Amino acid sequence: MPKDDLKIGVFVCECGTNIAGSVDIDTVVEDAKKLGNVVYSTKNRYMCSEPGQAEIKKAIKEEKLDRVIVAACSPRMHEPTFRECVASVGMNPYLVDMANIREQCSWVHMGNREAATTKAKDIMKAYVARARYLQPQDEKEIPVEKATLVIGGGIAGMQSALDLADAGYQVYLVEKEPSLGGLMSKLAKTYPTMDCAI
Ligand code: SF4
Repeated sequence: MPKDDLKIGVFVCECGTNIAGSVDIDTVVEDAKKLGNVVYSTKNRYMCSEPGQAEIKKAIKEEKLDRVIVAACSPRMHEPTFRECVASVGMNPYLVDMANIREQCSWVHMGNREAATTKAKDIMKAYVARARYLQPQDEKEIPVEKATLVIGGGIAGMQSALDLADAGYQVYLVEKEPSLGGLMSKLAKTYPTMDCAI
């Protein structure tokens, strides 16, 4: 169960006009302040910039935040940036989450500011609810054997096995028939040399 006194910080990014052009950012910032456990909510023109990240770090320290939500672009774009940002001030990197209000909101609702703003507020509600359940995670490095199993000794399987072996992997090629070649063995000639396929 999440702690009642959890402190969540919300950081809404304008991304220039990418988000601010379609979403009323001030409304999203103010609405987030009314959500449970949110003790801090602000906006920045470019949250991934140095000044944007500095604002997040400052708030974590001054407001003693337990969780951070960055409402911005897709996590595919900047999740590592913000994980590194919060970790640099001692927060577990898995306690930051990115609410996508750009690709999944402002970009798909361009020209409908009211709908985009309503959706952005709903996305924030969902992410604040989720943030309460985020748990710190430890990263572990485990050595893995560099080996590959290729199933099927037809032309594709054999070529894959050769390419993987050239890339330095140990390869195990498995074929259910007594000989390799697959469908190739049924061809009399192959283009362009017209050699026998077998
Ligand atoms: S964090 Fe994402 S949405 Fe914000 S300025 Fe950077 S790229 Fe744009």
